[in-house]
Amino acid sequence: MSLDGEYDPDNLFARILRGELPCAKVYEDADVFAFMDIFPQSRGHLLVISKASHARNLLDVEPAALATLIAGVQRLARAARAALKPDGLMVSQFNGAPAGQTVFHLHFHIIPRYGHEPLPGHAEGGPANADELAALAKTIAAEVS
Ligand code: AMP
Repeated sequence: MSLDGEYDPDNLFARILRGELPCAKVYEDADVFAFMDIFPQSRGHLLVISKASHARNLLDVEPAALATLIAGVQRLARAARAALKPDGLMVSQFNGAPAGQTVFHLHFHIIPRYGHEPLPGHAEGGPANADELAALAKTIAAEVS
């Protein structure tokens, strides 16, 4: 999908938000929802999305919703740091299919980095074990403040 287009209310993340598809949930408040990426690029890779906004990407989003969302990203990045003790944390976000976006509901990736461990490319990580993801979600959730 290009940068232009309509928000699809049945996109994958909208369905996760409505509880129609399962996820390893880390955090939820009135505005923000966070869950583990099922094809993680590193241990603890999670996604943070807005609950209210129907923005597909960074260009669409209302500034107030973006401000709330990025505050959520910071909150979850701090929790991931406390829980997993990574050496670094990468935050990424893609706009439009040519840039690598595959799900068209605005989201930020939080990807912990450990030393010089190589990072698979975006969308090139293998599927995670569901029990491991649930355990990671719980560990990170315990550090959210
Ligand atoms: P993007 O490519 O930036 O749109 O990111 C979409 C992300 O969603 C990718 O990193 C996928 O691994 C991830 N993903 C795809 N399906 C699911 C799912 N059912 N639950 C959690 N993450 C998913």
